[in-house]
Amino acid sequence: LSELPESHPRYLSLRTRHRIEEGVEKGITSKQGLIAEGRGEAFDYLLGERTLPTADDAARAAAAHLLLARHPVISVNGNVAALVPEDVVELAAVVDADVEVNLFNRTDERMQAIVDHLREHGAGEVKGLNGDARIPGLDHKRAVVDADGIGDADVVLVPLEDGDRAEALAAVGKTEIVVDLNPLSRSAQTATVPIVDNIVRALPNITTHARDLAGRPREELEAVVETFDTAGALAEAESAIRGGRLESDAESDPRTNGER
Ligand code: ATP
Ligand code: MG
Repeated sequence: LSELPESHPRYLSLRTRHRIEEGVEKGITSKQGLIAEGRGEAFDYLLGERTLPTADDAARAAAAHLLLARHPVISVNGNVAALVPEDVVELAAVVDADVEVNLFNRTDERMQAIVDHLREHGAGEVKGLNGDARIPGLDHKRAVVDADGIGDADVVLVPLEDGDRAEALAAVGKTEIVVDLNPLSRSAQTATVPIVDNIVRALPNITTHARDLAGRPREELEAVVETFDTAGALAEAESAIRGGRLESDAESDPRTNGER
């Protein structure tokens, strides 16, 4: 990969794939995580590997939610840790959120490997190892969270969450921000704010919006939250994937390098 020039039309996609491979080798990412990556790549390809305007609106609404929160928590799984560890740490600092490792397939080894990996990338305290609370409505292993982390949170950012857990978190009344490239997945469908975008673009984008919105009056942040159109954003993303791409996008299309 080091020989791949940044000008290569698929550079970002290949770099992302390489990070996931490294995640598997380091014991951070699961085999299921590899499959999830493949599914995400397919959706991203169809989106033209760019952030839709509605996904940018969603990222801004997410930033406003995180800034308004009493206790925001960023949930990290094996794919998130492999792909965007620096961005998780940076966003957590900007919105003053906790970081909690939360795995679909929880093993002590993988939990610890991810905590260590995040700390190597500058994280302070990383939650998740206590596992002293449960989210109701899920089988035992899948329900485990930290009582003073996700258990206490009012706003949770759950990138690439699976559908069951997204539903269970929403059912206990938490404001849920999901990042998922599939607008039809239950995770995206149950989120308060679904960001249909690649995590590698979405996380830095939320941070940029959070920096811009930090320090503004609560009413202004509340207005950003209220004007976000959840159903409209999901519909736009679905139509973009189904082929409703704009002519004007062709120039910046990484698949063709501008050629038609
Ligand atoms: P459910 O309907 O229960 O949500 P699912 O079909 O979404 O199930 P998962 O295994 O949770 O099943 O799928 C992983 C999801 O993560 C897929 O929707 C995929 O598009 C998305 N995904 C994978 N990689 C990325 C990424 N880098 N950025 C954003 N989304 C991603
Ligand atoms: Mg899903």
